[in-house]
Amino acid sequence: MKYCLNCDWQASATDDSDRSPSRKAIDHHVETGHTIDSSDGVIPLTIVDEPAISLVRE
Ligand SMILES: [Zn+2]
Repeated sequence: MKYCLNCDWQASATDDSDRSPSRKAIDHHVETGHTIDSSDGVIPLTIVDEPAISLVRE
């Protein structure tokens, strides 16, 4: 489970099959600047291992 520390946003592994919770969490962070927390720890503000990040939607 990923959840936002700034609003009620959250993502689980079961609610969307085509995008991972991690990716959705990154998208939420990119879109809002909010901090995402999860059992994996807080996603760093600077994400260097996701070169696919883009504001352009498919
Ligand atoms: Zn949020």
